Amino acid sequence: MRNAILLSMIALFVSINIAAQTPHELADAWDATHITDKEPSDVRHSDLKLYLEKLRSQGVKMAEVGRSNAGREIYQMEFGSGPLKVFLWSQMHGDEPTATSALVDIFSYLATHGDKPWVKEFAEKLTIRAVPMLNPDGAELYTRRNLQGIDINRDALNLATPEARLLKQLQNQWQPNIGFNLHNQQELTAVGLTGKQASISFLVVYGDEAKTETDGMRRNKRVASAMIKAIEPFIQGHIARYGDEWTPTAFGDNFSAWGSPVILIETGALIGQKELYLAKINFIAIMTAFSSLATGSQATGSSAPYENLPHNGSGTLVNYMFRHFTKPIGRSIGRRTIFWISLNRTRSSQEAFGSKVTACCQR
Ligand SMILES: [Zn+2]
Repeated sequence: MRNAILLSMIALFVSINIAAQTPHELADAWDATHITDKEPSDVRHSDLKLYLEKLRSQGVKMAEVGRSNAGREIYQMEFGSGPLKVFLWSQMHGDEPTATSALVDIFSYLATHGDKPWVKEFAEKLTIRAVPMLNPDGAELYTRRNLQGIDINRDALNLATPEARLLKQLQNQWQPNIGFNLHNQQELTAVGLTGKQASISFLVVYGDEAKTETDGMRRNKRVASAMIKAIEPFIQGHIARYGDEWTPTAFGDNFSAWGSPVILIETGALIGQKELYLAKINFIAIMTAFSSLATGSQATGSSAPYENLPHNGSGTLVNYMFRHFTKPIGRSIGRRTIFWISLNRTRSSQEAFGSKVTACCQR
């Protein structure tokens, strides 16, 4: 009996050890180890190359897998040698940068913490491949489209861009079991009608217009739910569900149709927080997804947190609102007064404006 108790205590200890990455521990891990230092929207291709140089020195397996229209290198990183193939890509829209920094920090952490049992388990159960910054020309110009002026995420069937051809080829040759499509959404996107910013929105992307529930869809809803539960304490009330209209030319929809069911993660903004904070939230969410896949905990998890998310909403947040101003300086024509307001708005001050506006709208 005593031996049995001792054995079960040892078993408990081992399982606690393996599952030791609680969301708060992941947050602490990011705080202590992240190698990204610039705000994600300031990271250009040359900055990414510096990050990747560091990753290489940490032992991250990495290869140039293609070139952009302007000839900029596109890289794929790899971790682990397990049977479940996990594929992620970020910044196919050049002005949607948050997850690129998250991917860098994730691979840095995994490469330098191979002694941790749960990281070992990732390596044994998963093979993870990720392409950070699929659209480096768009990132350089900080525009959505590529250098040809084409939205890569509407080019999954035409394949008119080198970036889309590369992404399709990476899926086609490797046939991943699950895909993560990493984007940013507008900072004015709200959680339903709550007037709260949707800081992260999720979508389990169907592979057909009829929204057929496959095993992959059901698994992805449970994985998304694990991610939601993990990040909820950090951004409470700021998580929403992205619209699920079928987009026949988009990559997420087609990855799912091609046999690699996709989870879309759209990072928005959060009042009073810098962009890097949301890179950290991505880090926690994605590491949690890996964990739920590697340990198999997703299989017995609930999909309710995903199913019950409020949908993305619009119209409740605005950038500027002018109230209670009187006697504007201007030119009167009859009963009307014409005046001009000039605003200079920079990216770095967006969140400050968002803060004021939301304070007004929540009243
Ligand atoms: Zn996007």
